[in-house]
Parts: sequence; C-alpha cells; structure tokens
Amino acid sequence: MPIDATLPYDDDNIFARILRGEIPAKRVYEDDHALAFHDIAPQAPVHVLVIPKGRYVSWDDFSATAGDAEIAGFVRAVATVAREQGLVEPGYRLLANVGSHGGQEVPHLHVHLFGGRALGRMVA
Ligand code: C5P
Repeated sequence: MPIDATLPYDDDNIFARILRGEIPAKRVYEDDHALAFHDIAPQAPVHVLVIPKGRYVSWDDFSATAGDAEIAGFVRAVATVAREQGLVEPGYRLLANVGSHGGQEVPHLHVHLFGGRALGRMVA
C-alpha cells in the first residue's frame, strides 16, 4: 500500500529495522552515510536498495532537511554501489519512488539500483 510521504518518520518501518540489524537483509555495502542490500523481490538480475542511515521518509524530506555532507555521502554511496556491482558499463537505472502517486511503500528513503540486463527506455 503506497504511503503518504509527508507523514512523520516511523522508527518501526522495515528499513529502520534492517538498519538496526533486527531483521536480516543481504547487505552489499555500508559506510557512515548509507546501507545497501539486495531487494527481497528483485525486478532485474541486479536489484539493490540503497538507503541513507538518517531518519528520512522520502527524497523530498531528505533534500529539505539533511546536511550537505549527508547528501553528498549518500549520493557517493549510490554511485559506489553501482561501481562495485560492475554496472557502470554497460549501465544501470536509479529509481526513487515518492509518496502515493510514486508508489512508495516503505517510508524510509531508498534508491532502487537496477542492472544486469538491457532495461529498455523507461517512460513514466
Ligand atoms: O519504492 P518502494 O517503497 O515501492 O519499494 C520498496 C521495496 O522494498 C520493494 O521493492 C520491496 O521488494 C523491498 N523490500 C525489501 N525487503 C523487505 C521489504 C521490502 O527488499 N524486507
């Protein structure tokens, strides 16, 4: 069920629990700013989720309230994961769903990283 991305942060959301190590995830990367793990229902040969460690519901929330170092760290982490997954060439796709029209289901900001096959041209 897609969420309202303007709601306050819920500390019991599933990605907060993954960050705290309360539920398992197939982790592929972690640094001071971000954690990355394989999506539990992959939509491509590589489907990794990259999340910031801070308490942000959405891209909107993150861009408005996170510090510059946190934003830069997260963006770098996304690019690092793509590189480490061997996707820079031939390429990959990033996607962030925001709110109900964006189809966001988990209320902790995440970027989907898809790759491993030709993904085709995406038209919303
Ligand atoms: O962007 P959206 O919120 O719709 O995507 C949430 C994603 O989180 C889904 O792709 C879902 O498969 C994934 N998920 C996960 N591990 C969980 C719960 C959800 O990888 N325990």
